[in-house]
Amino acid sequence: PATQMDEARAALRRIFGFDSFRGVQEQVVARVLGGQSTLAVMPTGAGKSLTYQLPAALLDGTCVVISPLIALMHDQLRSARANGIAAAALTSADADWRETADAFCNGALDLLYVAPERASQPGFRDLLNRGRVALFAVDEAHCVSEWGHDFRPDYRLLRPLMDGFPGAARLALTATADAHTRADILEQLGIPAEGMVVAGFDRPNIRYAIRHRQSVPAQLAQLMEEEPGPGIIYAPTRRKVEELAAQLERATGREVRPYHAGLPAEERAENQAAFVASEDMVMVATIAFGMGIDKPDVRFVAHAGIPKSIEAYYQETGRAGRDGDPALAVMFWGAGDFVAARQRVAEVEEARQQGERKRLDALAALVETPQCRRALLLRHFGEEPPQSCGNCDNCLDPPAMIDATELARKLLSA
Ligand code: ADP
Ligand code: MG
Repeated sequence: PATQMDEARAALRRIFGFDSFRGVQEQVVARVLGGQSTLAVMPTGAGKSLTYQLPAALLDGTCVVISPLIALMHDQLRSARANGIAAAALTSADADWRETADAFCNGALDLLYVAPERASQPGFRDLLNRGRVALFAVDEAHCVSEWGHDFRPDYRLLRPLMDGFPGAARLALTATADAHTRADILEQLGIPAEGMVVAGFDRPNIRYAIRHRQSVPAQLAQLMEEEPGPGIIYAPTRRKVEELAAQLERATGREVRPYHAGLPAEERAENQAAFVASEDMVMVATIAFGMGIDKPDVRFVAHAGIPKSIEAYYQETGRAGRDGDPALAVMFWGAGDFVAARQRVAEVEEARQQGERKRLDALAALVETPQCRRALLLRHFGEEPPQSCGNCDNCLDPPAMIDATELARKLLSA
């Protein structure tokens, strides 16, 4: 339900300090919180850990994480603890295992990491029976399959262990699984086929464009004339949302409604329902709008100013074209957006500034690149894309560039 995901989003911010879920994270977390077993295939760097660490922090009971490498476990322990999540590991390298067992039995652990060799011992099942298991997370789940590139026989013993705890959902995670391996993982770990979630970061039907802002109402009105289908326009403030909604309705004669957290709950609900049902309505909104809204035929998402980060941009533009038909993502930006954003960063607490600055730099790179936008986006999420996609502004209409090396050579030889 929506309230559960609202809670998840609040926890995402509070515990991890992130503004938005990335890609399918949201979908995986929703399934896990709903108790549905899931296989998540997400590229490296996509943020798989969060899909069990966040539920582990929210659910009653402990998330048991099976992970094949002690070094990996210890990395995870460190980062989980740094976020204030109660985590421990039962490995040969951890001497305090009696303490860990006690903590588990007392319900004091959010996360319990264990290697597959230990997990498959009878003593471990006995231990689990003395506490409360909320969730099993099987990391590097391709190890369960002989088709995978790293078969580990002990992974085969996880199924009987998990079968002994029917109340705990299973979450299998892998970055590298072809179709054959995926099917095998589902079978070996007892996850229903409909429980598979595959992250492809590429959204080939979305055409990305990023333009200088001149007159935003005029530019948006033109976009609305070219694109008659349903659209979402993100504006930076509540006031801007209302202003733009009124201006655009007047200028285009199309149905345009506002959405922001300052509107009465009734009006918000009504506008949202109207949008979902409509084939041509445009919603002007703050980022309060969009999460959990299921409308596959959104034909464009526009930003009237820069989003918060590449992650936010990807998530917000990702609401366009979920039906797979062509859709547009257009951002209108001005240099002032970055000036204002940098000022805001200077005001946040010291510890967060560096991270925030990095996020802004990454966003600036996306905005300023003369090269393929999609390639930059995908690389940001750890995918190795082709040089150019043929479906973004820079690929379709390459910006004129001066050959700087040529210029330098001429200057030097002069
Ligand atoms: P994986 O296990 O898929 O390789 P990780 O869980 O190690 O990925 O996460 C990769 C990086 O992405 C980590 O630095 C993590 O903090 C970061 N990350 C995860 N989720 C998000 C998010 N929603 N927003 C921003 N950064 C995220
Ligand atoms: Mg990982």
